[in-house]
Amino acid sequence: MSRMTGVVLPGNSTVEFREYQVPKPGAGQVLLKMKASSICGSDIRAIYREHLGVGPEAYQNVISGHEPCGQIAEVGPKVKRFKEGDRVIIYHISGCGVCHDCRMGYQISCSSKLRAAYGWQRDGGNAEYLLADEPDLVLLPDNLTYLDGALCACGFGTCYEALTRIEVSGCDRVLVVGLGPMGLAALMLAKAFGAAKLIGVDVVDERIKLTKKLGLADLVLKADKNTLEQIKEATDGFGCEKTIECSGNADGRLLSIQGTRQWGKVAFVGEGGSVQFEPSRDIIHKQIAIYGSWVTSVPHLEDLAEKLSQWNIHPDKIITNTFSLDKADMAYQLMDEGKCGKVAITWPD
Ligand SMILES: [Zn+2]
Ligand SMILES: [Zn+2]
Repeated sequence: MSRMTGVVLPGNSTVEFREYQVPKPGAGQVLLKMKASSICGSDIRAIYREHLGVGPEAYQNVISGHEPCGQIAEVGPKVKRFKEGDRVIIYHISGCGVCHDCRMGYQISCSSKLRAAYGWQRDGGNAEYLLADEPDLVLLPDNLTYLDGALCACGFGTCYEALTRIEVSGCDRVLVVGLGPMGLAALMLAKAFGAAKLIGVDVVDERIKLTKKLGLADLVLKADKNTLEQIKEATDGFGCEKTIECSGNADGRLLSIQGTRQWGKVAFVGEGGSVQFEPSRDIIHKQIAIYGSWVTSVPHLEDLAEKLSQWNIHPDKIITNTFSLDKADMAYQLMDEGKCGKVAITWPD
């Protein structure tokens, strides 16, 4: 096969199907036969509706999809570790490889002009084949599905990073604000980390229903003026020791801070928007630490894949809808409406 179809997002809430030459892997590169490509909230927020992103989030009309997982179909010269047939997750940013952030494995924070994210500045996963650089590959354990892998590439990786950053453990009750795919991922992983109690909050009925149906939280609350009180009631009057903020909404963010116990920690992962709080009342006198956490590192993505395999935990549990590539328009539309769990494009094995 020499031609393939790729999905481009023009930025007016539509998708465009374009024809491409199947790429040839150069030195240090592999050609991936795509198996699963899930849609991230960022695709909707910064690309699908309107091209809002700047800098690392500037979309350059490439093939979309930054949560790719597939099987290596061809290896280029000088590939050192991976081989044809390997099942791999793509860490979705290619960095320069030699700056301090890249050397720590955080290509996400690479500031070199050479940095390019798959599905943003270089071709991503929404096509039959994907050209990837070897340093961006993470081996997918045998007992994980391609969908599991795709979900780790951005969303679950990001949640894993946030949970490790604020050191969630069995000592903690965990509050998750925002129950979109990120919130569901945060709940699943927090449970695996041993969290003592899980509380989820959202405003969208479908999300609340899905969280309950999946059995991911001990308590699921529909946000209203009593939510903070309900969180305190469920935690002996204290609030939760650790909180993951996934809503990106001003009220949600304030709730995440106020629902955190004295000396507790909050990680912000929900993007966009703003927040207003009273520093003295909300964080200083409560001795609270707020962490910003952006994506993850390649080694942490490897750790996550290994741990999911050991725990036999499957991120694909939060997938509610899959589509073939030719129905990508429906996939993005559904994800944009937000009345679903995670949505992905898949290819038959
Ligand atoms: Zn993403
Ligand atoms: Zn770099």
